[in-house]
Amino acid sequence: MSKMAINPISYGRQDICSEDIQEVVKVLKSDYLTQGPAVSTFEQAVCRKVGAEHSVAVNSATSALHISCLALGVGKGDVVWTTPNTFVASANAALYCGATVDFVDIDPVTYNMCPEKLKSKLLICRDRGQLPKVVIPVHFAGRGCDMLAIKNLSIEFGFKIIEDASHALGSTYNGNAIGSCHYSDLCVFSFHPVKMITTGEGGLVTTNSVETHKKLVKLREHGITKSINDNELFDPSGEIWFGRQSTLGFNYRMTDIQAALGNSQLERLDEFLSTRQAIVKRYNTFFSNLPITTPHQPSDDICSFHLYVILLPDNGDRTTQATFFRHLRSCGINCSVHYIPVYKHPFYENLGFSSGYCPVCENYFHRAISLPIFTSLEEQRQQEVINAVNEFFK
Ligand SMILES: *Cc1c(COP(=O)(O)O)cnc(C)c1O
Repeated sequence: MSKMAINPISYGRQDICSEDIQEVVKVLKSDYLTQGPAVSTFEQAVCRKVGAEHSVAVNSATSALHISCLALGVGKGDVVWTTPNTFVASANAALYCGATVDFVDIDPVTYNMCPEKLKSKLLICRDRGQLPKVVIPVHFAGRGCDMLAIKNLSIEFGFKIIEDASHALGSTYNGNAIGSCHYSDLCVFSFHPVKMITTGEGGLVTTNSVETHKKLVKLREHGITKSINDNELFDPSGEIWFGRQSTLGFNYRMTDIQAALGNSQLERLDEFLSTRQAIVKRYNTFFSNLPITTPHQPSDDICSFHLYVILLPDNGDRTTQATFFRHLRSCGINCSVHYIPVYKHPFYENLGFSSGYCPVCENYFHRAISLPIFTSLEEQRQQEVINAVNEFFK
């Protein structure tokens, strides 16, 4: 009992091996801690993995979302739509640019943005002249959104698409890796320690547009370029004397230390994916007779299973979730809830959003529990989780 209290099982954590450490140490002993070769090696490796033309590594997915919005021209007077069932960063990115943000309710089976609700909201807002400039679907838990439907709507209603794939490295949709930007303009990944692979902190944007790629690189590096086009700054031999700032950019660079870890982790992604599938399979088997909803399994697509979310019965009793949560905590299991609808955070309530805005998401929120899932979760420790869940329903 005391052992469990000292060593609780968290809902997610990193998996670092000795090769990962060696790769980081190599960079620490090299000439470049930042702006060296490891970052572009990592960018190219992610491109190959997901089948994208270009990518830009940055210091977080939050930064990646920010510069993605800026690269699509999001600014004051613009509207960006996302799902309420996400981490606040998906919505905050729009606010950083001076735009306003709005939310489209979720599908009750996939917990992703609902394309029918998106369509009806678009029809209403077109009449009012308030169409979004950008829509940010989030592949919740790694489950691909209905990108085909969203892409078709983007053509009809003229908005751009940024996929928030923070959960979804390794997932596929309709036969393509998420990140290939088959149905979007840009796609963002996170490498926070709980995500599929980690760089400590880190993020990355993929795109198939040369122009957008150029903009992203510039925004990552203070708005400064050392481009041949700035020819008055070059001597006749073409030698670069200094870069020139042409827009207001940021220092959102990823270090080579982080990129080295990312490179090493990326090589382990397939192994990570199958370990997570095995954990999911075990949970599903042991929970098949319980009155809970296990994650919907797409038939043809790979789901990364960044999260394993179960839903408690829909009996309208919110105390069940709290009791269940406390029961698991008392068994040494640090479960979690993903997510409180973004607009229910005090900051967003102060912007004018009120309870009941997205009823499907709120119903979901009051029933959802994220159980531990991470690659180093030993079978025996997973059994502790399974036993604790079963005990609750006895
Ligand atoms: C983790 C996460 C982010 C933010 O990622 P950081 O790398 O921590 O900035 C954004 N969106 C979603 C859906 C996330 O899960």
